[in-house]
Amino acid sequence: MRSLEPFYEKKMACIFCSKPFTTLKVRSRFAIPYQIDSDFCPNYREGNYNPHFYFINVCPECGFAFSEEFSDQFPLGVREIINTKITKQWTKRNFGEVRDIQQAQESYKLAILAGSLKNEKNAILAGLCLRLAWLYRAEKMSEQESRFLGLALNSYEESFVHSDFVGTSMSELNILYMIGELSRRLGQYQKAISYFSKIIQHKDTNDDQKMVKRAREQWKQAKEEYSQRLKAGNIIQG
Ligand SMILES: [Zn+2]
Repeated sequence: MRSLEPFYEKKMACIFCSKPFTTLKVRSRFAIPYQIDSDFCPNYREGNYNPHFYFINVCPECGFAFSEEFSDQFPLGVREIINTKITKQWTKRNFGEVRDIQQAQESYKLAILAGSLKNEKNAILAGLCLRLAWLYRAEKMSEQESRFLGLALNSYEESFVHSDFVGTSMSELNILYMIGELSRRLGQYQKAISYFSKIIQHKDTNDDQKMVKRAREQWKQAKEEYSQRLKAGNIIQG
């Protein structure tokens, strides 16, 4: 029988302290977006369940927060740093129940800290900052949204330079598109135009025609916005 409950409990083991805990996840058929933004942010109607609220697992024992994309490898010396900066500061709390948007935002901040301390891949850190920006977008908190879009953009650029997206769910075309699109959203039109062009001229265009089509549309959009801003004399260079 198919369950009518929107949530299910998932058994986890903390990748840092190994202790078991449970956390909620949203069943996919309760989370159907009515619209997806140009940076892939899904929009849900009120009363719908946003799976991004439950993307991060927070260990109630030690405070280490992670997504399922995190590797379970900790570079030498990192465990001591996490112990000092996270576990010793942690007041035991449970993120394993229904979360409100503030708890969801906090879970991402904890995961961004944990992921940065353990030197998680830039492509993965970028995805965390991006999802957090989306939660602020849903609340129309545009300053916070821009702040985390900016951090996501920096991490995608680092990821591109060091090719650390290899082995993640992101392809090089995905990374180039995100750099272009986040630059456009942050008013860095010249950079946006240059990255969308890299996709259009890329050797792998046959692998992802949809992405190339999207890049063409956003290239056009960025060009138009850039010329409008130039006319208005209001432009951020870059
Ligand atoms: Zn733990």
